[in-house]
Amino acid sequence: MSDCIFCKIVNGDIPAAKVYENEHVLAFLDISQVTKGHTLVIPKVHKENLFELTPETSKDLFESVPEIANALKKEFSPLGLNLVNNNGEHAGQTVFHFHVHLIPRYGKGDGFG
Ligand code: 5GP
Ligand code: ZN
Repeated sequence: MSDCIFCKIVNGDIPAAKVYENEHVLAFLDISQVTKGHTLVIPKVHKENLFELTPETSKDLFESVPEIANALKKEFSPLGLNLVNNNGEHAGQTVFHFHVHLIPRYGKGDGFG
């Protein structure tokens, strides 16, 4: 989708700090990190949200998540990690290209929750 900011990141039209990439999936640091290492995982194909996701795209994306979580664990040594996903404006979605937030946690007062 030409006016989708995450498609532009996939296409290299706007920069992002990449954390992980394979044929189907891209992970990059959130531009406004709620905690250190806050990462977004997206399918390279444009799907608006969970309601549009195919089983195949879902499989591709979630297969990559443990490896990305472990890379974040190694890099940032968090105490835990939240997986967050907003679907639809009323659920807090602001970018309408499916994404999962990986939010490393560092204990009380770390800025999230
Ligand atoms: P949502 O609210 O849709 O679940 O999350 C969208 C996320 O995308 C937000 O956390 C926001 O900071 C992030 N975001 C928005 N625009 C950009 C961008 O251009 N680059 C990056 N890296 N993150 C972005
Ligand atoms: Zn898109």
